[in-house]
Parts: sequence; structure tokens; C-alpha cells
Amino acid sequence: MNETHRLAIVGGGSVAVSFLAQFIVLIQKTPIDFPPIHITLFEPTGVIGQGTAYQADLNTNLLNVPANNMSLFDDKRTHFLEWLTTLSKDDLSRYGVKEIDGNDFYPRPLFGRYVSEQFTRIVKLACDLGVTVRVIENAVVAIERQQSRAMMLRDSAGGKYEADRVVLCNGNLSSDKFEALLPQAGFLNSPYPVAELARKIPNSASVGILGSNLSAIDAIVALVAQGHAGPIHCFSRQGRLPSVRSTFPTKVSDRLTRNSVHKWVTEQDGHLDLACIYEQLQKMILSHGYGDDLKDLLGADNSASDQLDWEIETSQARQRPWQSVLASTNDVIDLLWFYLAPEEKQQFQKRWMPQWMSRRAMFPMKNALKLQELMRRRQLYVHGGFQACMPVKDKDVFEVSYENGVGDVESVRCEYIINATGFSQNVEKSADPLVMDLLNSGMATSSPYGGFKLDFNTGSLIASNSEIVDEITVLGSLARGTYFWTISMDVNARLAGEQARQIVNALVVQGDKINVC
Ligand SMILES: Cc1cc2nc3c(=O)[nH]c(=O)nc-3n(C[C@H](O)[C@H](O)[C@H](O)COP(=O)(O)OP(=O)(O)OC[C@H]3O[C@@H](n4cnc5c(N)ncnc54)[C@H](O)[C@@H]3O)c2cc1C
Repeated sequence: MNETHRLAIVGGGSVAVSFLAQFIVLIQKTPIDFPPIHITLFEPTGVIGQGTAYQADLNTNLLNVPANNMSLFDDKRTHFLEWLTTLSKDDLSRYGVKEIDGNDFYPRPLFGRYVSEQFTRIVKLACDLGVTVRVIENAVVAIERQQSRAMMLRDSAGGKYEADRVVLCNGNLSSDKFEALLPQAGFLNSPYPVAELARKIPNSASVGILGSNLSAIDAIVALVAQGHAGPIHCFSRQGRLPSVRSTFPTKVSDRLTRNSVHKWVTEQDGHLDLACIYEQLQKMILSHGYGDDLKDLLGADNSASDQLDWEIETSQARQRPWQSVLASTNDVIDLLWFYLAPEEKQQFQKRWMPQWMSRRAMFPMKNALKLQELMRRRQLYVHGGFQACMPVKDKDVFEVSYENGVGDVESVRCEYIINATGFSQNVEKSADPLVMDLLNSGMATSSPYGGFKLDFNTGSLIASNSEIVDEITVLGSLARGTYFWTISMDVNARLAGEQARQIVNALVVQGDKINVC
């Protein structure tokens, strides 16, 4: 086995590092002589491991997953937690951390530092193993197949790089929801980095935040932490904040496993529907002995402030098994999605997605208490029934209209607007050069459920002629249509680990015909 293997990783966020780290560890563990392996990682910002989510920013940006489940390694779930224990007290205090607890929610910049440090460690390990890793600080703008079947990547500086395999980890696409507002002064298309909000928005200004999920919470907490004293209005269709994590996590004993899902699907003649998944989750939730937990899962239909009070009170008082049961589905969520019939997927997207987002993407008590205080002192308002956000002619102000609880349309004027509705997963509407190039060349097609259409088993692109493009696989947000919950580190680490294993296996099969266990 003497051919060189060239691997390109497009993007240098947390998912790229998770893939790279698991790939190198597999190489280390596999007792054969590999061909020379050359890895090229492209990251235009030059900052590896952070992306938007974990960038150096305010410590008010908290992880929404407890430390004991935030890891780059699928088979070492407590790796981040173990890394935390190696930091000095002084170091931790810079992030506002006093003690280490696996159930706690730490600042995201701290997780970003963990990922960056792991990258440095892994590159050194790679070097010891004879694998070269180079970083190109440019974006990839096009990928073209060569006659040899190798892929030619072109970067934004005109550089050309040939690779045998490409792993796309290029993350989230910018929001496309309020494009008409982009040229307006006072409109911010993303809250990040939140540390810059205070520089852009005067302290006394009225601020409208579009969205009421996790990014909206990041924006609110950061504004106030930087001394914002003006009113803050949040607008969304549902007018609800996410659920607050119970401070008493439930240990889920009867978790769904991949084997149990396969068995279940066989019993259901090869398909799952939403009703049977809901029934199964119901059973799991009720088995923990909290009879009213199902009502709690659906959430009460009252004002956002009453709902937040209820969320805080309940989460401080007792376990809420539904939260842990939903989180436990991360082990199999891609399989559940895969086995849903297309019309069931469409129904879920249309009817249940906002509800799922606000219940599944929960936020920690620490920030919930801050929001409660702001609502009580009438600085923060959350409005449902969002209709439109328009600039007011000849005035430096926006008018945001919404339908109030009794069906009347009301509006609020805000001097600044922050779009916190999250990122786009619609590749068709994206102006990203690489995304457009892949669609235009036919090497990629869009999934009706977001991102690119992929082969479920391998994560490879499916071309417009329906062929599987074995040489290019996708991880992260652009794999959303295929694996559904690709906004969680544990799901992404599992998928990244599988792709790393497939590539190592292919190298092994080419060579010594041994399988990686
Ligand atoms: C604000 C926010 C908070 C989150 N919090 C959590 C959390 O607490 N817990 C959790 O589990 N998950 C969380 N998530 C989910 C999160 O999306 C993933 O965990 C993770 O950040 C995704 O990483 P990524 O590497 O796929 O994308 P990104 O972090 O977006 O990184 C992609 C990288 O690719 C680069 N890139 C883009 N295009 C190109 C190109 N053409 N060529 C080369 N490079 C390119 C970008 O510069 C970027 O650095 C959060 C997400 C967001 C947005």
C-alpha cells in the first residue's frame, strides 16, 4: 500500500475538529502501515474550532447542553468535562466558573477554547504518526471532479488543491429571512458576536429582537450585561421562550437504542409515523412516574411571562422527565427521521417544528432567572403573533406588527432590530459561492428538509443525476435534511466519528484487508 491519500476538510469549526480528532485517533489505534496521509483544512477566518457558536465572546453565551455531554469524541462523552479539570482556578474564573459540575452549563467561549486546544494536540499527534495537516486560511469556492475521480478544490485566492476525499463542514448559512432589511441602518442580521452589541446599540435605545429562541436569549442577556437600559421587545410567531432545564436531571433508563429502533421499524413494516413515535416517547416519559409530565411537555397556553414563571418554578422544584427523554433521543434521532415517510416529515416541519424547537432546545436556569427579572421590571416583553418588521419612512426606526392574543393587530416601534431567528438551511437561496457552485455543477442537490440531499449511510452528496458522490461527504448544518438534529454537538460528534471510521476503513481495506473494530 503506497499511494498517497489526500483528505480535504472544508471549514474549521467544532464539527471539523471533531471529525479530524476522531480520524487521527483511529489512525493511531489501527495497527497497519497507512499510505502517506495529507490533510488540508480550509478555514477563512484562521481561527480553528470556534465557528459562530463557540467564538471568543461574552461568557453570558452559555452552552445549552450540560458539560457531561459536550465532547468532540463520540466514544468519550465526558472528554470536555475531564479537560475542564485540568484548568487552574484562575483560568476558570476568567470564564466566571467557580466549580466543575457535569450537569452545569458553561460559557460557550470556554468550549471554544477546549476545541481549539484539542486541534493543536491532534495536529501534534498526527505529526507523530506521520500524517501532515496544513491549514489554508481561505474559503473553498468551487469543487470539480477530475478525470482521475480526484476532486479539485479552488479557494478564494485562486489556489488549487487536489483531494481524494472531501469532508464539508462549512457550518451554518446566514439567515435569509429579512433580506429586504439588510441595507437599513439599525438592522443587525445576527446577534453574534454579542460582545459587539453594546458598541452598535446605544444603551437607552429601544430594541426589537426577531425570534424568541436560544439566540434571542443570548442577545437579551448580553445587552443587559453590557448595561442596556432601554426596552427590549422579542417577537415570534409562538411568543414563547424555550423551556427551562430542570435542575434535577432525570436518568433515562429505557433509552431507545439503534438496535431497538431497527427492531421496532421491522414490526411496523418498514416505516414509522409521528403518532407511533409520540406514543413511544409518552410511554418512556410516563414510566418515570410523573403523571402530569405530558401536559408539561406540551406547555401551557398562557403569556410568555406566566409561562416563564411556571417553567422556573417547576424546574427548581422537581424532575421533568420529558426533558431528559427528548434529549436521550439524540442517540437515534437520525434513524427516527430516516424512517419517517416523506408526508410525515412534511407534516412535522409544518405543524410541529416551532413547538419542537422551543421544547427540545432548552435553556439553563441561570439565564432564565435573568429574563424573569427583566420581565418583572418591565424592560423585556415577548410578543406572539409576529407579522412583519418594516422600516418607517424618513425615520430611523422600525415598526414591528403582531397579532395580540385576541386577534387585533398591534405594533411597536424599535430603533434597532436584531435578527435572532437563527441560520438558514435553504441551500437554494444561499449566496455562498461554494454552495452555489455545487448546486450549479449538479454535484449537489437540495434536500426538501434543509441542506443538501445525502446518502443516509455514508453522508455522501447525491448529485442531480441521482448518483452518489462518494468522494464528498457532509457534516453539520448542511446535513440537516438527512439527519435532522444536526445542531447538537453529540449528534454531530457521532456522525463525524462514523465518517472518520468509514474513511479509515476504506484505507484499511485497500491495504491490509483488516477491518477497524
Ligand atoms: C449560537 C449557537 C449556539 C449553539 N450552542 C450549542 C450548544 O450549546 N450545544 C450544542 O451541542 N450545540 C450548539 N449549537 C449547535 C452548533 O451548530 C454546533 O454544535 C456547531 O457549532 C456547528 O459547528 P460546525 O463546525 O458545523 O459549524 P460552524 O461552527 O459554523 O463552523 C463552520 C466553519 O466553516 C467555515 N467555512 C464556511 N464556509 C467555508 C468555505 N467555503 N470554505 C472554508 N471554510 C468555510 C466558517 O468560517 C466556520 O468557521 C449552537 C449553534 C449556534 C449557532
